[in-house]
Amino acid sequence: MTAMPDASHIDVLAIAAHRDDVEQTCGGTLLRMAERGRRTAILDLTQGEMGTRGTVEDRAREAAEAARILKVSWRQALDIPDGRVENTYDNRCKVARVIRQLCPRVLILPYWQARHPDHATAGVLGYEAAFVAGLAKLDLGAPPHRPFKILYASLYADVRPMFVVDISEQFETRFASLMAYRSQYQDQAAGSSLFPREAEIRERIAAMAGFYGLLAGVRYAEPFVQKEVGLVDDLLAIPVQSI
Ligand SMILES: [Zn+2]
Repeated sequence: MTAMPDASHIDVLAIAAHRDDVEQTCGGTLLRMAERGRRTAILDLTQGEMGTRGTVEDRAREAAEAARILKVSWRQALDIPDGRVENTYDNRCKVARVIRQLCPRVLILPYWQARHPDHATAGVLGYEAAFVAGLAKLDLGAPPHRPFKILYASLYADVRPMFVVDISEQFETRFASLMAYRSQYQDQAAGSSLFPREAEIRERIAAMAGFYGLLAGVRYAEPFVQKEVGLVDDLLAIPVQSI
């Protein structure tokens, strides 16, 4: 495990199947929250041992560096097998222990439908773990806790988001956090082909963030889905122009 200090009082916890998923789907949002003084955390379910490139140790080091760039207060990886994220009771308890330890008010999960089975399963597993975490009579070594709000980061999924978070000011730093995964995103052979590879990734990342930004009239954004309806207090304060 790559533990980072200070797990007390986390505002926003993002859970994802693989190291670097959060950086691609909701890293800008985590950074925006941190810049507003909120305390954020990342739980990766696997350690990336099935990845074609780099070792588990490389990825642990890179994940810690990415967390530092995103101003994340706490990050760990569980030992669930990469490529075999399963919604078992044992795994639900592993995740529930972390939820109890960190007591997040907001939990960000991967959208529950995805091309990669690990991503889809992580969304369902995370939700059920949040339920388990609140069971008063279940002894998991810390007091029961359920997050108030569960949000689904939907960037990997072809669904219309219910809202987006403006990351125009966080986009460059979020991209830097992704590039911290040097073993994944930079060509292994030194030199000539390094820059085209990075440029290609940047173009894809900017196109996605730009598309979701356009939907809300900002430059770059990250998309989210929630299962609940929205609640409005003041009609005059609803953002995003209609016409
Ligand atoms: Zn992934």
